[in-house]
Amino acid sequence: MSTPVAENRVPVYRPYLGAEVASAAQSALEAGWLGMGKLSREFELELERFLHLDERRVVSTNSCTEALHIAARLIGLGPGDEVIAPAFTYVAGHQAMSRTGADIVFCDIEDEYLSIDPARVEELITERTKAILAVDYLGLPCQLDRLMEIAAKHNLRVIEDAAHAFGSYNQGRAVGSFGDITCFSFGPVKTITTLEGGAVVTSNPADVQALHELRHLGIDSDTDARYKNQRNWEFDVVRQGYRCHLGSVPAAIGLAQLAKADEFIHNRQEYCRTYDKAFAELAARGDIKLFDTEWKDVAPYIYVLRLSDGGRRQALIEHLNARGIATGIHFLGAHEFSFYAGSRRGEMPVTEAATQQVLTLPLHPYMDEDTLNRVSQAVIEFFAPDLETA
Ligand SMILES: *Cc1c(COP(=O)(O)O)cnc(C)c1O
Repeated sequence: MSTPVAENRVPVYRPYLGAEVASAAQSALEAGWLGMGKLSREFELELERFLHLDERRVVSTNSCTEALHIAARLIGLGPGDEVIAPAFTYVAGHQAMSRTGADIVFCDIEDEYLSIDPARVEELITERTKAILAVDYLGLPCQLDRLMEIAAKHNLRVIEDAAHAFGSYNQGRAVGSFGDITCFSFGPVKTITTLEGGAVVTSNPADVQALHELRHLGIDSDTDARYKNQRNWEFDVVRQGYRCHLGSVPAAIGLAQLAKADEFIHNRQEYCRTYDKAFAELAARGDIKLFDTEWKDVAPYIYVLRLSDGGRRQALIEHLNARGIATGIHFLGAHEFSFYAGSRRGEMPVTEAATQQVLTLPLHPYMDEDTLNRVSQAVIEFFAPDLETA
């Protein structure tokens, strides 16, 4: 049926699901309080500690998509408003925004780290613009300081989609510890997972109350009781809300994952350096482009090669697949999707090139030397059989 090498395949992602993760889930099940509860709160507090938050607060959710959605509701996005967003990101961000009735305006990215280009953002601002959506691509921090300046000048909000950047630092500051609103993902394949989950980080205590209401059916006074594994039977409903809280079992899994986050991140950084070293010659020859980083402050979610000739990408995908190595593409251009065909957009030369050139290689929290070597050598063999060393 399939080729013999299909066994022992190297997947793009491999979540860590060790014994302590299973036992954390088991204990939470045995405690018998399954909904949002003490463990959800404990997870939020541990996240606040991990992210070095001071005034800022974490509101956990059942996904990053929902975190982005309640962030969009929080800032009052709705019909008639525009959100300037990169086309080069996962469609979760666009969907979370457009669900409010707001229009997405697609913006180009800068060529170095593939995050939204502040200069292009400024060109797209109109009187309808209400927010900027920024993404920390693969964990590399976006130019948030520049975007915050632009936002201040034009009275805009900035939502940072940091789904890829949990544990990254931007000029010495943890992603999430500065800026306006930051959203994280703890989805199945992200740097830490709660199976499905996410969080919003906000700086304003008034926003926290609103986010609690948005997270849980518009109910005004439910959160404090639930954080003690209790329920309020008397309450008011004060706004349109949704239902996207993080339950106790996912929170327990998140706590077990978070305890290992430093190790996951350290390992991922090391594997990225190993790949970079293996591919240095290919980069020097001009076959591929690597990101200009030592990975010191970057918590990498994926490892991405940029092919100089995007026309060869499909052949490389097939070459690696035949050797049992899975790959991914982050991202397609969302401005090409049918649903967003009518959306306003700027010129997008960098996006158009990047969507053809990027290829994601396997990156896991734990990889052995043989696997890293197998992936690297297979890539080198494709571009330069003469350079093969192993
Ligand atoms: C994974 C991802 C999301 C969505 O996260 P979920 O937790 O799966 O909803 C949003 N944005 C980006 C850039 C992502 O990679």
